[in-house]
Amino acid sequence: MAATEQSYFLHELELRRKHLLSVSRANTADQSLSNLLASVDAALSHLQKGTFGICETCHEPIEADRLLCNPLLRFCLDHLSGDEQRALERDLTLAARIQRALLPPTDWSSAGWQARYHYQPAGLVSGDYCDLIESDGAFLFLLGDVAGKGVAASMLMSHLHATFRTLAEQHLPLQKMMEHANRLFSESTTAGQYATMIVGYARPNGKVSYVSAGHLPLFHISSFGVRPREATGVPLGMFCTTRFPVCELELEPGDKLLLYTDGLTEMFNAAGDEYGVARVHALAKKHAAADPEAMLTACLEEIRNFSAAAKQTDDLTLLVLHRAH
Ligand SMILES: [Zn+2]
Repeated sequence: MAATEQSYFLHELELRRKHLLSVSRANTADQSLSNLLASVDAALSHLQKGTFGICETCHEPIEADRLLCNPLLRFCLDHLSGDEQRALERDLTLAARIQRALLPPTDWSSAGWQARYHYQPAGLVSGDYCDLIESDGAFLFLLGDVAGKGVAASMLMSHLHATFRTLAEQHLPLQKMMEHANRLFSESTTAGQYATMIVGYARPNGKVSYVSAGHLPLFHISSFGVRPREATGVPLGMFCTTRFPVCELELEPGDKLLLYTDGLTEMFNAAGDEYGVARVHALAKKHAAADPEAMLTACLEEIRNFSAAAKQTDDLTLLVLHRAH
C-alpha cells in the first residue's frame, strides 16, 4: 500500500476511534459501540503490521474502492458470508435506484433545443455523470466521467451532481462555476480521483458556450460536416487552482452536438481493436441527418455490432443535443 493511502486510512481510522470513544463514554451500556471500537483497533493494528486491506480468507488485497468506503472491511467480495453478500446486493440495488433518480428526464426539450441521452452503467452503479438544468431561459448541459468505476466512482458522481445543482442556482459565469466546482471536488476527494467533464450553456439563439475539462472531443454536427472540438482544460480535481477556458459555438437550426464517455471509445471488439475517437467521428458523419433519438438508436446498434459478444467493461453515456428551431 502506498504511503499516501496508508496515511489516509490512518487518519480515517483514528477519526473513527475518536468519535467512538467520545460516544461510548456517554453510553457505556451499548455493546455495539465497544464491538466497533475493537474493529477499529484491529484495523489500526493491521495497518501497523502491513496486513491492512488483506482478505482474511484468501490473503489477496480487498477491492480498493470498497476499502475507501469502509476501512473496516476484512474480506474481499469473493469471501463475504451469505448474509453480507445479500446485504451488499440490497445496498447496490438501492444505490442504483438512487442514481437513476438523479438523471434528467429522457425526453428533454428547452429553449428550442432537444436533448436525448443513453446511460448504461457497466455494473449496477456508474461513475458517469449526465445532467440537464434549466437556467435563466437557457439550459446547462453536463456530461462527465469519474476516474474508475463501481461504488467509489458512483459516490463521486453523486457528489458532482449535488455540486453542480447547487452552483447552477447561483447563475455564475461558466468559468467561475468550473473553478468553484474544481476546488470543491479537489478538496473533497483523495489523490488520484478526478473527473473529465463537458459543461455548457445552450441558449435559444443557438449560441453555446462550453468548457471541456480534459474530456474526449465533442462533435458539432452541421450541414457543413462534423467537427471535433478538443478539451479546453485539465480534468476536474487534478489541480486545486486551474483555469477552464470557455469556448463558443453557434448552432444553426438542425445542428447537433454529440457528447460521450470513454465507455464508447475504449470499447474493444473480438479482434482486440479499440473503438476509438475516429470511429465516433465516422459514426456522427454517417448519422448526421438523423433526429436525436434515431441517432442514439443507430449509434447503439453500431456499438453492439462492433463489440458483439464482448462484455461491457466501462460505464457508457451518450448525449445528443439538437437545436430544433
Ligand atoms: Zn478473499
